[in-house]
Amino acid sequence: MSATSDRVQILAPTNLSELLQTLKMHPDAELYAGGTHILTTRGTAYLRLPEKVVTLHKVEELNRVTRTEKYIEFGAGVTLRRIVELGPKAFPEALYSAIRSLGPPGIENLATIGGNVCVSGRLMTLVPILYLLECRLELRSASGTRWVRIGQFHDAEGNTRLQPGEVLTRLRISPGNWNRQAFKSFGTIYLPETNPLVFCGLAHLDNSVLADFRFAITTHRPRIVRDRALEAELVGRKVPLAKRDHEVIEAGIAGVMQEQQIPRGSIQHRRAIRLSEWFAQELR
Ligand SMILES: Cc1cc2nc3c(=O)[nH]c(=O)nc-3n(C[C@H](O)[C@H](O)[C@H](O)COP(=O)(O)OP(=O)(O)OC[C@H]3O[C@@H](n4cnc5c(N)ncnc54)[C@H](O)[C@@H]3O)c2cc1C
Repeated sequence: MSATSDRVQILAPTNLSELLQTLKMHPDAELYAGGTHILTTRGTAYLRLPEKVVTLHKVEELNRVTRTEKYIEFGAGVTLRRIVELGPKAFPEALYSAIRSLGPPGIENLATIGGNVCVSGRLMTLVPILYLLECRLELRSASGTRWVRIGQFHDAEGNTRLQPGEVLTRLRISPGNWNRQAFKSFGTIYLPETNPLVFCGLAHLDNSVLADFRFAITTHRPRIVRDRALEAELVGRKVPLAKRDHEVIEAGIAGVMQEQQIPRGSIQHRRAIRLSEWFAQELR
């Protein structure tokens, strides 16, 4: 299905195979899910569409949510509202908090989970928590299907590694067994001067022993800050953590933030340290 105005051609496939054929024939078209990022970043005073768009909202296969014992799968076109309506117990609470933190009220009615991950040039709010939940992405084109880990989906500039004609179709997460979860965000992702920072942490405590522990931080820079060596060092420790464990955490976070060129003493640097310290205190 297609509609054309003076400036804009809108292609609206109604199923996945039609979508893949449309993308094959129009690799220059821009995919349009909720449009909340696309329209925000067009740089015009008026809401203005790209010249050729393929809308995803009629593609039924992209609107499914599936649960099995091992994983939860979201179609890329599932709106954030629909995920919220599943309730905070339906999937890890930190993901729920991340979705609730995103944008002004009303955005979640349109915004999709796939659109959040597919923004190029920056890592949006849901990326770090999906990363900790070992999210895998199904990418499809007319010539085949591939699965990639979310941590490998963006390059060093934060651009997606989607090939021409390719679309994100499903996101699969492992819910895990997390009995301590944290999500906090500051600033506005679009405005570096607001010192944006997203912090998320997951931990599994088993009889006062830290059985698993992960954290991820993002800022306006297109990198995920995570220190697996630090995480591995803390696993197996008794909670509440000892003073020297807190020192190890602070030194580890300071190191990775500096590596990511977030200056020591900056607001983001200080907040990252304070948040990891706070999360460590919560482990009891
Ligand atoms: C006022 C305001 C505040 C906001 N604040 C935040 C915020 O704090 N944090 C945040 O993360 N976001 C924020 N956003 C941005 C946006 O709402 C979300 O990132 C949203 O999840 C994007 O989803 P969408 O469906 O609207 O994406 P779209 O705008 O439709 O698409 C985003 C990008 O992804 C591509 N794309 C979409 N779906 C696919 C797919 N299935 N396969 C391949 N490519 C695809 C599009 O071509 C486009 O490049 C804000 C937006 C507004 C308007």
